[in-house]
Amino acid sequence: MQVATGTSIVNRIAIGRIRVYKRPEYKIGEEIVADPVPELKRFEDARVKVQAQQNVLYEKAVKAAGEDSAAIFQFHAMMLDDDDLLDSIKSIIVEQKHTAEYAAQRGFENTAQMFSEMDDPYFQARSADVMDVGNDIIECLLGLDTSSLQGTEPSILVAEDLAPSETVKLDKNLLLGMITREGSSNSHTAILARSMNLPALIQCKDIDDSWDGKFAILDGYNSCVYIEPTQDLVDSLTRRHEQELAQDALLEHLKGLPNTTIDGTTVRVYANIGGPQDIGNVTANDAEGVGLFRSEFVYLNSKADPAEEEQFQAYKRVLETLAPKLVIIRTCDIGADKTIDYMNLDKETNPALGFRAVRICLTRKDFFKRQLRALLRASVYGNLGIMFPMIISLREVKECKDILAECRRELENEGKPYSDKIQIGIMVETPAAVLCADELAQEVDFFSLGTNDLTQYTCAIDRQNAKLEAFSDPHHPAVLREIRMTVEAGHRHNCWVGICGELGADLSLTETFLRMGVDELSVNPKSVLPLRKQIRSIDLRKPAGEGLTQNTQ
Ligand code: PEP
Ligand code: MG
Repeated sequence: MQVATGTSIVNRIAIGRIRVYKRPEYKIGEEIVADPVPELKRFEDARVKVQAQQNVLYEKAVKAAGEDSAAIFQFHAMMLDDDDLLDSIKSIIVEQKHTAEYAAQRGFENTAQMFSEMDDPYFQARSADVMDVGNDIIECLLGLDTSSLQGTEPSILVAEDLAPSETVKLDKNLLLGMITREGSSNSHTAILARSMNLPALIQCKDIDDSWDGKFAILDGYNSCVYIEPTQDLVDSLTRRHEQELAQDALLEHLKGLPNTTIDGTTVRVYANIGGPQDIGNVTANDAEGVGLFRSEFVYLNSKADPAEEEQFQAYKRVLETLAPKLVIIRTCDIGADKTIDYMNLDKETNPALGFRAVRICLTRKDFFKRQLRALLRASVYGNLGIMFPMIISLREVKECKDILAECRRELENEGKPYSDKIQIGIMVETPAAVLCADELAQEVDFFSLGTNDLTQYTCAIDRQNAKLEAFSDPHHPAVLREIRMTVEAGHRHNCWVGICGELGADLSLTETFLRMGVDELSVNPKSVLPLRKQIRSIDLRKPAGEGLTQNTQ
């Protein structure tokens, strides 16, 4: 068995044979033509034909992956109307008397180079898109047919890189997953893979032509591919894959249906995510928004303290892809079980009660401001909520809001836009926050109950300590009462209340939460549809169950 690693774009599993996808190789000579007029006509014919193809690809991509992902083909079509680019190609044909394909190659390469030298990573990534449409023109001029590259059997496609137009042209019924040596997580291929919820690995440097035809498993969860895996691995990953497929079947049945009980009560069901790699799971599971984006994963996945720009790109990608859905991004919750070397945090005897989350942010103001500025800048690309974790006092909320206001002023001075519709909220995950909920609710738009920490701090049970399992009761009446108190306090002050801890996905409590008046449940993407099923089976006109009356009154 060989194991090759890369960067996972979509956390799913693909099982099947590898198909090494190889573009036809061609070399364009520098020959001189006697008469440039026929070359100009050949170029113009190719331009018109490829532009029409881009419009068809656009329509196809809208259906497969949505408007945002399809926009790249509009960009391609626009490039083919760009006067500077067209003039430069025509001039190479007329002045230098080169063939249409030679002129096109030079013209597109020069433009791609220009994009790659821009400062903004977004425009740098567009360089590949320029070459993508350039290659279409060249292949059209050379009369090359790329339609048979994918073969006829379903397979995991392995390629040096896949251009967006190639990704869309691929027959999805034959596509189990994609692995590329190149590609950035910002590239449109990655965006399309995410929107289509297709397992994909990029930056897999060990890909090899000899893999062609071999049996393999692409494991998006562990960012690797197993070539000729052991039987044990095949068995365990097949079981996991079957769970994914069962989930897909559930999806088909419940997709598009409202999260409404039999008696007509509706609750919002959102998803919890760790970063852009999870976007596909949000849409595939039909979540109405993101109730918790654990932004510390952006920090954990980075070798050094991520710069404002790096964070901005990650937040923007999520907001833009999911717009107009609400995306609640929780500010960095580092500390306790989540430690990072570059943060240089001291070892503590009691880390869960130590220097973590908002305590770090309020102490290291520059660090906090980098994130808040990135969030504000990203806010114009979608519907953002900002949430502060581990809050225990009104003073902390006010301080967070003051620093946010300072960042707004800085951006105004720099002429950088941000949205004025950002919702501000806090995690209610400490008993102190529950007991101060009336005051806190007057400062924020929403509360999100972090039942994982709330249970740990209420019951004094370390959530990391497996030995305490026997003492731990996830349905502890104290926690359920705290949830009720928080919902009531929030509602007294026009502050909506959700749950983003694991308890939100506990189907045996769904009815209890609905009776309490919880407005939103944010759960791992896979739990969205089972939760919808549960909600749709509840009738709140019937008497409440025993558990509710005993535990929460
Ligand atoms: C929680 O504490 O319930 C929560 C959602 O946050 P985390 O699990 O990331 O601490
Ligand atoms: Mg927590």
